[in-house]
Amino acid sequence: MMAKEYLLSSVHTHTKLCDGKNTPEEMAVTAWRGGLRTLGFTGHSNTPFDLEYCMTRSRTALYKAQVAKLKERYSGKLDILCGIEWDLFSDDDPAAYDYWIGSTHYLRGPKTGKYYEIDWRESDLAACIRDDFDGDGLAAVEAYFANVAALAAKKPTILGHFDLIKKINGDGKFFDEHAPRYRAAADAALMAAARNRCVLEVNTGAVYRGFRQDYFPGDELLKEWLPLSGNVVLTADAHSDKALTFGFEQAAAHLKELGYTKVQVLTKTGFVPCEL
Ligand SMILES: [Zn+2]
Ligand SMILES: [Zn+2]
Repeated sequence: MMAKEYLLSSVHTHTKLCDGKNTPEEMAVTAWRGGLRTLGFTGHSNTPFDLEYCMTRSRTALYKAQVAKLKERYSGKLDILCGIEWDLFSDDDPAAYDYWIGSTHYLRGPKTGKYYEIDWRESDLAACIRDDFDGDGLAAVEAYFANVAALAAKKPTILGHFDLIKKINGDGKFFDEHAPRYRAAADAALMAAARNRCVLEVNTGAVYRGFRQDYFPGDELLKEWLPLSGNVVLTADAHSDKALTFGFEQAAAHLKELGYTKVQVLTKTGFVPCEL
């Protein structure tokens, strides 16, 4: 692969069929005009208790049909892949797609049995920690990374936003990201990812949307990942056509600073390494 070919592949994207801003068609047009070679759609998989951002079953059928049409329309011009961002608590079958991103967005409360979105409202994360983890934020972190490890064991094509639990933590509002318990929980999940030969995404989405100044995963994890495997793919978690390759060059430069020499690029025939 030529230098900077990672700029030609965007494989973590959302549309209006879940919580994105553009239609699949608008995303495809923008990708094609922008000279991309590969566009992968990854709508949020149906998750029975979710009423907010996942695709319902009928939406999922519509999603598959619309992406299939676009695949034909852009044949020879832009490789379109029909993927899914699959959550641990989803009832959809990820094997039914061209590829899948395995992501953890929820915690199931061990006491109440409630499902909490951990990356959106501070009030939800606060209730989760208070009602289900005795006010111990790090216990919620441990439960989160246990879910990530369980997902890694299912061998997704891409392991999604590895440390999403930090998204709304700001400068340590709910837990200390440098606490030994945090590090230990994250490390255990990272080892699970390595054992299962996962490709981690370096996700620029929270930077684009103003939640964080760092990527998922953060630097300490990226440094640990390098000797374990070092296989990463750049993604924007794009919820709008303007974000398709947001921050890819900065993220690539950053990876290089950390000692990475290549990133994986997803194409219609699978991953291809690209030198940094
Ligand atoms: Zn996600
Ligand atoms: Zn996503």
